[in-house]
Amino acid sequence: MERNRLESLVRPNIRNLCPYSTARDEYAGRPGIFLDANESPYDTGFNRYPDPRQQALKARISVLKGVPAERIFVGNGSDEAIDLLFRIFCVPGRDNAVAIVPSYGMYAVAAATNDVALREVPLGADFSLPAEALLAAADADSRLLFLCSPNNPTGNAFAPEALCGLAERFPGIVVVDEAYIDFSRVPGLLGVLDRYHNLVVLQTLSKAWGLAGLRVGLAFADPYIARLMGAVKYPYNLSQAAQQLALQALEQDPAPRIAAIVAGRDRLAARLPAFACVRKVWPSEANFLLVEVDDPDALYAHLLADGIIVRNRSRVPGCAGCLRITAGLPEENEQLIQSIEAYEKSHLR
Ligand code: PMP
Repeated sequence: MERNRLESLVRPNIRNLCPYSTARDEYAGRPGIFLDANESPYDTGFNRYPDPRQQALKARISVLKGVPAERIFVGNGSDEAIDLLFRIFCVPGRDNAVAIVPSYGMYAVAAATNDVALREVPLGADFSLPAEALLAAADADSRLLFLCSPNNPTGNAFAPEALCGLAERFPGIVVVDEAYIDFSRVPGLLGVLDRYHNLVVLQTLSKAWGLAGLRVGLAFADPYIARLMGAVKYPYNLSQAAQQLALQALEQDPAPRIAAIVAGRDRLAARLPAFACVRKVWPSEANFLLVEVDDPDALYAHLLADGIIVRNRSRVPGCAGCLRITAGLPEENEQLIQSIEAYEKSHLR
């Protein structure tokens, strides 16, 4: 997509937006006596407003991901990025978005809160990417296409070539949510980001980095889109605590924990099919398994009574009979197995 076509996709009021300028935007020089932001002068550790541009954090993420800082947006979870994309690109009540189903539920919620029609296109057999149907669902008012790879809740990753093909052919912005990419053997799209002006890649520190409670989500995009996201967000969308703690956590290599989680997932995937109640364990490139069972409500209730909480996805279109089970610590996975063993024994009686 041409760069000027990209600008024409942006809502006119956002294209012409004059963003709020914070005290810290106006003065970014050496520390001195700050009497500009109506803060308290008493040091509580948090008496100053945080950097609205999150420059230190972006510099670190830039090195880690090999993406220039001008292409990075950091948000209050990737959920913030999802909402901002609707607000930037979709005129409420007029424009529409396209998404795969089943997938992450927030695409539909963000569409609904922004009064944007979401055209949901079912995945193909074995949860394959319905590329032609996604393109056929689009019209002149389609602004966003939401894809998720590895996909939640199905666990499969799509071929990067197929995702790039959609970025080439879709008439709007193509969002590829890579929340689970660190668990996957399939490469993500950051390496090809500069080939597609209309590609937005979402990642998060909530999964592989173990920081779900901190709320730090990432978007990688054309500098023009990253700039728009920065202009529309709340000025201080990331607290000082989140910026500081994220920066600290990014110094530690998450690889050993990722490897342990993946090993646990694969052990579960190998053992679960032995149970009579398990019909299918779907292959996973994420930190969870989608497991089809005979009676999902009964197994869910049994696990819950044992203090084990999984996600019952059996009412999600395309996921009949399915529970989604996150890979936990080795001992937690073992308890899950033991609880299913007990469930089967009680059902055989
Ligand atoms: N994308 C996907 C596919 C997810 O599954 C989730 C959380 N379950 C998110 C995004 C949200 O991530 P965050 O914690 O960064 O808001």
